[in-house]
Amino acid sequence: MREDNCIFCKIANGDIPSKTLYEDEECRVILDLGPATKGHALILPKNHYANLFELPENEAEYVMVIAKRMAAKMTEKLQCDGFNLVQNNGETAGQTVFHFHMHLIPRYKWDNQLIGWKPMQATQEELEDTMNTIIAE
Ligand code: 5GP
Ligand code: ZN
Repeated sequence: MREDNCIFCKIANGDIPSKTLYEDEECRVILDLGPATKGHALILPKNHYANLFELPENEAEYVMVIAKRMAAKMTEKLQCDGFNLVQNNGETAGQTVFHFHMHLIPRYKWDNQLIGWKPMQATQEELEDTMNTIIAE
């Protein structure tokens, strides 16, 4: 299940070389070309899914298993102090490559990186309203 003209399909399936940290039948883990920190990596399923919504549940489970294993290995090897998993869906959320991928971002006390959001304030009423919107049948 590949898509023509998808760079991550080509990388995941080995048609374009990459700095590969791990590979199996389902996925490839590569170093990001524009790393947020040393070791910033991406988990790429070999099948093409544009985003989380297209990703089948069994592949979603597997991606998280690989994320856990890679985070443990990279923490040991890179001696990082923390770890972010980031996964963007849609342009508004910062997605730039439309082949599902999970970012693995090692964090260092000194890295001075910005990965996150500025918290807003919400009243109990607003939270209640949001909750009801989401859980409504
Ligand atoms: P997104 O913004 O879609 O969540 O993340 C796309 C990521 O892919 C970015 O961090 C970007 O640096 C990385 N990237 C884009 N093109 C390439 C490429 O050709 N090779 C590698 N290794 N990373 C890429
Ligand atoms: Zn693709």
